[in-house]
Amino acid sequence: MKRIAVLTSGGDAPGMNAAIRAVVRKAISEGIEIYGINHGYAGMVAGDIFPLTSASVGDKIGRGGTFLYSARYPEFKYEEGQLAGIEQLKKFGIEGVVVIGGDGSYHGAMRLTEHGFPAVGLPGTIDNDIVGTDFTIGFDTAVSTVVDALDKIRDTSSSHNRTFVVEVMGRNAGDIALNAGIAAGADDICIPEKEFKFENVVNNINKGYEKGKNHHIIVLAEGVMSGEEFATKLKEAGYEGDLRVSVLGHIQRGGSPTARDRVLASRMGARAVELLRDGIGGVAVGIHNEELVESPILGTPEEGALFSLTEEGGIKVNNPHKAGLELYR
Ligand code: ATP
Repeated sequence: MKRIAVLTSGGDAPGMNAAIRAVVRKAISEGIEIYGINHGYAGMVAGDIFPLTSASVGDKIGRGGTFLYSARYPEFKYEEGQLAGIEQLKKFGIEGVVVIGGDGSYHGAMRLTEHGFPAVGLPGTIDNDIVGTDFTIGFDTAVSTVVDALDKIRDTSSSHNRTFVVEVMGRNAGDIALNAGIAAGADDICIPEKEFKFENVVNNINKGYEKGKNHHIIVLAEGVMSGEEFATKLKEAGYEGDLRVSVLGHIQRGGSPTARDRVLASRMGARAVELLRDGIGGVAVGIHNEELVESPILGTPEEGALFSLTEEGGIKVNNPHKAGLELYR
C-alpha cells in the first residue's frame, strides 16, 4: 500500500491525537504516504482530505480532543454514502483507512473493507464499552478526571456532613463509575451491570453517619438513571438527610491524555499501519492482557469476530461488554 488515510469518528476521547500521531509517524517510517480526513465519514464523503506530514503531528501527543475533528454521519450506514466516500478516497489515490472511534465507526470500517477498501478500527472512547479490547483509548484519562473531581467533592461533602450523588459518563457501561469510585474511595457505586435496592443505599448512608462518618459519596453511572432521578428515588426510599447532586458532564471527555492512554494509543496506531501495510482490513485492534490483539469486525463468534449479522440483516454483538465486575468481589 502506497497511500493510506486516518479519521476520527463518533464521540471524541483524550488520546485520539496520540493515535493519529502514531499512525502518521509509523506510516512515514514504512514509506507509506498518509492523509488526514476531517470530520469522520462526513469529511470522507465531502472530500475534506489532505496530506499529513511528520510535522503535522508535532506537539499533538499530549493534547485532548482530536485535531481531525469528529462527527456523526448516519448517511454512512447506507451503501450510497459508503460508495460516495470510496469515490473520494479513489480521487486521492488512497488505498486503506485507519478509523479511530466506537463500534458504530467500526461498522463503517467493515463496509469500506467489503467494498474493497481495507479499513482498520481503533477503539477511541472514554466509555470503555467496545468489545474486543480490555481498554479503550481515553478511558484511563476519563477515570483520572473523575477521581480528581470526586476528591474535591469529598472535601466539601465532609465539611457539611452532606451526601452527594455524582453522575458520571459511560453510556450503558459502568466502567468509569466502578473504577473511579474505587480509586476515590466512594461509599456506594451504582452501575447498570449490577442490580441494587434504594433501601440498601439509604441504610448504608444512615449507618455510615451513625458510625461517625462525615460524608457519603455515591458514584452513579449515567446508564442507571440521571442523578436527579436517583436523588428523588432515594428520598422516596426514606432518605431524609442533606443531599446534593453533581453531574460531571463533558469535562470527562476533555483534557490531556494520561501516560497510559498515550502509550496505548501509540501502540495501537502503529499496529493499525502494520495491518494495512500487510493488506489486512476489516479488523479492529484491541489490547488483551497487555498484548495487542486483532479481531475481525464482522463474522461468527467462532471466528472471534466482534459482531455478527442477524437473520433480519441487523448487527448483533457476539460477546456483550461487561464492566469489570470482578472488582466488586
Ligand atoms: P461512540 O461510542 O463514541 O459514540 P461510535 O463510533 O459508536 O462512537 P456512532 O455515532 O455509533 O459512534 O458511529 C459513528 C459513525 O460511524 C456514524 O455517524 C456513521 O457515520 C458510522 N456508522 C455507524 N454505524 C454504521 C453502520 N452500521 N454502517 C456504516 N457506518 C456506520
